[in-house]
Amino acid sequence: MIKELLHDLLHLVYPHLCVGCQEEPVDNDELFCVRCESKLPLTDFHQFGDNEALRRISNHQLFKSGTSMFRFYPGGIVQKMIHEIKYKAQTNIALRLGKRYGILLSNAMAFKEIDCVIPVPLHPIKQRQRGFNQSKFFAEGLATSMQKHLYLNMVRRVMHTDTQTGKNRYERLKSIMYAFEKGSAAAHLQNKHVLLVDDVLTTGATLESCATALSSIRGIKLSFATIALAQ
Ligand SMILES: [Zn+2]
Repeated sequence: MIKELLHDLLHLVYPHLCVGCQEEPVDNDELFCVRCESKLPLTDFHQFGDNEALRRISNHQLFKSGTSMFRFYPGGIVQKMIHEIKYKAQTNIALRLGKRYGILLSNAMAFKEIDCVIPVPLHPIKQRQRGFNQSKFFAEGLATSMQKHLYLNMVRRVMHTDTQTGKNRYERLKSIMYAFEKGSAAAHLQNKHVLLVDDVLTTGATLESCATALSSIRGIKLSFATIALAQ
C-alpha cells in the first residue's frame, strides 16, 4: 500500500515520458503516448515469407525467414528511440519492444518453429566501452514472450570493425565478412532453428557474417529479427 502510494507520488513528480516525443507523460507500462503510438512505423514483415528485410541480405538463402519490427527514418520516432537505447542506456526500452514483438512472432507462421534466440554480439572492446549490448535486451524480450532459450555465448565477434576509417568499401565488407566465429558450445545448436537478433538492419552485412559463422553447424536453420530496417 505504502509502496504503491510512493510509486504514484514519484510518478507525479517524475512522470514517465513517451519514448517517441519525450513530452507526453505516459503510464508506467506504456512506452508511447496515444499520438506517437498511432504514428509508429510498424512493419508487417513477419507475416510474409518474402519481404524487404530479407531482401536486404545479399545472400538471403542463409535465412529461412527475416523481419524488422519498425522502419527507421532519419529524424523519426524510431531513430529517437534507438538513440535513447544506445546512448542513454535505456535498455529497458529494447527489452519491452522485444516482449511486444515476441507476441506477434509467436503467432506468425514463419517464426512458430524457432527453438532459441541469439543476439548478434558486440566486440568485447565495444561491449566494454558501451557497457551493454542493446541487441541482447531486445533478444531477451523476444525470448521471454516467445518462451524460448536465450543463448549468449554461441557466437563471438573476433574483429573490431569500428576502426574502419581509411578502408574502402570492399575492404570494409571483407573485414565484416570474417568478423564472427562460432563459440565453443555452438554444437548445442545442431538441428535447431535459431533466431539471430540485431538492432538496425542497414546493408545486412553484419547479420550475413554472423549467420555464415554458424551455418556450418549440422542441421542448423537460421532466421533473424531486428528492431528496425534503415530506409
Ligand atoms: Zn509521444
